[in-house]
Amino acid sequence: MAGAGKRTKSADNATYDDLPVAIFQFEHDRIAYANRLGLSLLEAVTPEEILGRSLFDFVHPLDKPRIHNRLERALTGRGAMRPVEMRLRTCADHVRIVSARAQRVGDTSGLIAAVTDITPQRLRSYLQETERNVRHLFENTTDIYYRIDALGKVLMASPAVERILGYTCEAVIGQDSSMFYADPRDRDELVHALTTYGKISDYEVTLLHRDGTHVCVSVSSHAINDEEGNYLAVEGVMRDISERKRLERELHELASHDPLTGLLNRRAFLERATQALQRGQRHAWPITFMILDIDWFKRVNDRFGHLVGDQVLRRFSESVMHQLREIDHFGRLGGEEFGLVLDQCDLNEAHEVGERIRRSIETLECALMEDKPITISVSIGASVSAADDARIETLLERADQALYRAKQEGRNRLVWHKPGYSMSKTNLA
Ligand code: GH3
Ligand code: MG
Ligand code: MG
Repeated sequence: MAGAGKRTKSADNATYDDLPVAIFQFEHDRIAYANRLGLSLLEAVTPEEILGRSLFDFVHPLDKPRIHNRLERALTGRGAMRPVEMRLRTCADHVRIVSARAQRVGDTSGLIAAVTDITPQRLRSYLQETERNVRHLFENTTDIYYRIDALGKVLMASPAVERILGYTCEAVIGQDSSMFYADPRDRDELVHALTTYGKISDYEVTLLHRDGTHVCVSVSSHAINDEEGNYLAVEGVMRDISERKRLERELHELASHDPLTGLLNRRAFLERATQALQRGQRHAWPITFMILDIDWFKRVNDRFGHLVGDQVLRRFSESVMHQLREIDHFGRLGGEEFGLVLDQCDLNEAHEVGERIRRSIETLECALMEDKPITISVSIGASVSAADDARIETLLERADQALYRAKQEGRNRLVWHKPGYSMSKTNLA
């Protein structure tokens, strides 16, 4: 018999060979016959490549369960089934989208199916849908999707640019991208990273909003090069991370500051003090470490209550802060005990600062109770770093010993740890 595939007894398949539609005949799920267009649909060079094989050798894995159900129904049903769509993988490993209409052959387990290749139509609508989805994404994404050419001119930007930077898409097109950077050098660095590595991800940079405020964004982009590898343009996404940055700052603030006084907490203060000590050791200048402890503070609480005590702690902190320079570090070590590091300050100057603080606290009116001011005093233990002091804890211990002496010697005084260099308000050098 002439024809494309091997024949079964159930039909005179020669009549199918030249039909303008792909015809397959199945014994259950096995391919028993394929006409010329059937072979060509599956890109089989010879009928032997497909005959005897299961239909499921060709059906796309994601379509298999659905097609399995349809096949079972077709083998038990009567008349033509509704057409079914599926993806097939051909012998040449290409994917085809087909529409198949099958009918059972009499009461046997044989099926005859007419299959139409609808790949071009489906691809067209798939492309249209993809284009619609991409456009939808482009227009609605909360990030700025953009392209900038090799000269730095903006080629395109998604509408999010209006929300994030205050400019319409039209207004930014053709503009020099450096005008959007708070520091134009950031753009040069970004381009340098891009041309060096081909792409960047989560690169943080500060942009300028149209109203002049700063907007922190994270940039992920890649370079577009021509066939010879020349840099043509950059394409990427900018995400507004101002809110995340604000939260990070807030968290950092919470983690490093004392909520009552707003001063650095013990951990953050000791961290800064350590850095100051290390810097001092590198440059061979000493740093001064002081512990300030409010005298008889328990009595303030006992007489006026905890809330007034809190107010006194706040007033004390503010007052000390007023005596300090930008480069000094002041923090709350705990309770009514405070740490102070005077950076780049010689011993006499440090003594002066300590004394000034002590005197200012002595005269400070912390709060009013029944029209009478509450006053306090402070004892200060001081210690200066030596060339071989490696740890801040050493200075803290020495300052603590000096503080103990200040308390013992009558409070409201500044005592230096250095043996023989104990200066109180009555014992100034
Ligand atoms: P001294 O002169 O020996 O330092 O005496 P003092 O009373 O200041 O020292 P003591 O260590 O006996 O008491 C410190 C008090 O500080 C006890 C504690 O209730 C109080 N205190 C610690 N933290 C706080 C706070 O956050 N708020 C208030 N109001 N009181 C606090
Ligand atoms: Mg005290
Ligand atoms: Mg104390």
